[in-house]
Amino acid sequence: MMQDTFINERRIKDALEKAAKPSMEALSDLLAKGKRLEGLTLEEAAMLLNVEGIEAESGIFETAAFIKNAIYGARLVFFAPLYLSNYCVNDCGYCGFHAGNKAGRRKLTMDEIRAEARRLIDMGHRRLLIEAGEDPVNNPIDYILEAIDAVYSAKTGKGGIRRLNVNIAATTVENYRLLKAKGIGTYQLFQESYHRPAFEKMHKGPKGDYTRQLYALDNAFKGGIDDVGIGVLFGLYDWRFETLGLIAHAEYLSKTFGVGPHTISVPRFRPAASVEMTPDFLVKDDEFLRLIAVLRIAVPYTGMIITTRERPEIRKTAFRLGISQTSAASSTAPGGQSKGDNIAQFELSDKRSLDETAIGVMKQGFTPSFCTACYRKQRTGSAFMELAKPGDIHESGRGIKAFCQPNSILTLFEYIEDTASPEGRTLGMEIIRKSIEAIENPAIKKQTIEKLERIKQGERDLYF
Ligand code: SAM
Ligand code: SF4
Repeated sequence: MMQDTFINERRIKDALEKAAKPSMEALSDLLAKGKRLEGLTLEEAAMLLNVEGIEAESGIFETAAFIKNAIYGARLVFFAPLYLSNYCVNDCGYCGFHAGNKAGRRKLTMDEIRAEARRLIDMGHRRLLIEAGEDPVNNPIDYILEAIDAVYSAKTGKGGIRRLNVNIAATTVENYRLLKAKGIGTYQLFQESYHRPAFEKMHKGPKGDYTRQLYALDNAFKGGIDDVGIGVLFGLYDWRFETLGLIAHAEYLSKTFGVGPHTISVPRFRPAASVEMTPDFLVKDDEFLRLIAVLRIAVPYTGMIITTRERPEIRKTAFRLGISQTSAASSTAPGGQSKGDNIAQFELSDKRSLDETAIGVMKQGFTPSFCTACYRKQRTGSAFMELAKPGDIHESGRGIKAFCQPNSILTLFEYIEDTASPEGRTLGMEIIRKSIEAIENPAIKKQTIEKLERIKQGERDLYF
């Protein structure tokens, strides 16, 4: 008999069926609840996923943008992936690293990992996400642990990596404990599909165990990791079902561990070398933006990540509707920042440099941030959520709100001083000027100005 899990397929399907046509009145009640930053139940989110018509859609988008601004302000946090190894024993139908692809396997040495990290540091990155295939022989946990040390030890004249997040295959509680002890930030693992038959159809190898994947984050929590990231690979099954799966997972983690996921990732399938199949459930742009907006309304305090899998125009709209973190200047091949002859996991749609991307977001009115302060001040897990929840995460006032905007401009100023192009500098300085003016708390305003001055004099890594 199939094991029961927190993904209740019947509940999700019922929610979608019953929510077929919400009235305009029901819709406006839900959007009002959203604006009060109360989040939505799975059943309520189903209504927003199903509702049709331009008026309804613009109400959903407007509400999502309101929430994004209320909780995250103008900040957009940047990171880059660092692929350690493309060895993998799994045959995931969509992935360029699948075991059946015999070409171009590569695993970086510690020197190569430091070299990749230094390249990313010199571009301006301060947060990285390490990624690797699952291979107990080529990528055992000791290799990953050593790699984490290598990244944190990499330094250039511009500084080092301050927060390293990890996306590696499901592992044991003991291994999660070891990862935590190395000082990782978020541990991410995507369910790929919450729909068991779709998941099982797509995965062969140890990852093909649906419940192993589903409960891996429980093991991460048990190993002491309190910032975890969930995600779905959109394209494997109906996007509405998957979005509700994410909400069910968030609900479950929150109920079981007292804290929901730190981030949600929303990758869409991209073509990849030696991957012949086209997924049956490709998600269209308007559907993709809808699901981002609905997630923003349903789980307002969870960060949301978009990557360079997406085209610049889509990213631009998604930033407004709820995305809080984004990759830039990525490569999906091990050693890809040095030379590109290794197999990549999938193709990218945004190949702009970090500077070009930062300029794009500043022109849109966002503040690029390289901030890592919360994690380093131990504001993680429930401590972070408690501070974030009053909707105070961004301006001067109470809770995290007191620190976020000042911290983002301190890191933006470092970026300007060390790396930015003349155009990036001009745009960035204007943002910093306006942001200082907007700080309400006089003590924090004064300290921010002092810290900016110290950065100008050559100090680095100052934060609240
Ligand atoms: N091997 C680990 C695992 O599978 O859990 C690490 C994750 S992998 C390096 C990062 C993510 O990339 C996967 O979880 C998957 O969602 C995504 N991915 C794989 N192939 C993709 C493709 N063709 N297009 C878009 N995303 C893809
Ligand atoms: Fe391996 Fe992960 Fe790719 Fe699957 S998605 S083939 S587990 S690297």
